[in-house]
Amino acid sequence: MIGISTLAFSNTDLETALSAVEQMTKAKHAEIFSEGIHDVIHSENSEILSSYALSYSIHAPTLDVNLAAARETIRKTGLEIIQDSAEFCMNRDIEILVVHPGYAADKETLPQAYKSFEKSIPGLQKIKEETGVRICIENMPDADIYLFRNPDDINLIETAGLEFILDIGHAHTTENLKEFLQNEIAHYHIHDNGGDFDSHFGFGDGTIGHFCLEQIVKKAKKDKAILIAENKTIEGAVKTYEALKKAGAD
Ligand SMILES: [Zn+2]
Repeated sequence: MIGISTLAFSNTDLETALSAVEQMTKAKHAEIFSEGIHDVIHSENSEILSSYALSYSIHAPTLDVNLAAARETIRKTGLEIIQDSAEFCMNRDIEILVVHPGYAADKETLPQAYKSFEKSIPGLQKIKEETGVRICIENMPDADIYLFRNPDDINLIETAGLEFILDIGHAHTTENLKEFLQNEIAHYHIHDNGGDFDSHFGFGDGTIGHFCLEQIVKKAKKDKAILIAENKTIEGAVKTYEALKKAGAD
């Protein structure tokens, strides 16, 4: 199934965004990027979801959240925000919560950031067990400060019952999309770029290629995973949606 992220509509209110997604996808699926004016967790936005004939996934906030933070107070606060997000999902039968793994201050402290993230894993596992919401950790784009740029990182979360969401644009910048695709994938973010920068282009405007998208759609269909067009512009989201249709997604 194809869904569209509200990221493409981040300068309009959530109602306008969801109406547009409802029209574009013929009432299928929206992924709400719960940040800024689309924050659903502690705002009146939380009341409007049932007004649309859409199913939802939630992208957890990223602004004040760093599950790999060097400072314990920040790391723990991040976990609390994820907990609130998961409870929000649980109360509305929303199955999937997308979570970023976090980041370091610089390349030199990346190993410590991994240690901090590993401390967050039991907390995430507890949230998953208490709410029943599928917590999906996302791979990050090519920058020295990010965790989860390598498929081996999936080993860190698998045993805790956490799942993996593949962002194919991010994996294209880290030049290991094929390796990532060898793994079990619960959810997808679809967008394109030239391999150099995380541009979130409409699919076809970068260099990932339609053959690769067809393989991804096949795999996602087999696993009943949702393919989210995650673009920064409406034109980009339309282009990605059309490319996914052409590649066989429904
Ligand atoms: Zn993404």
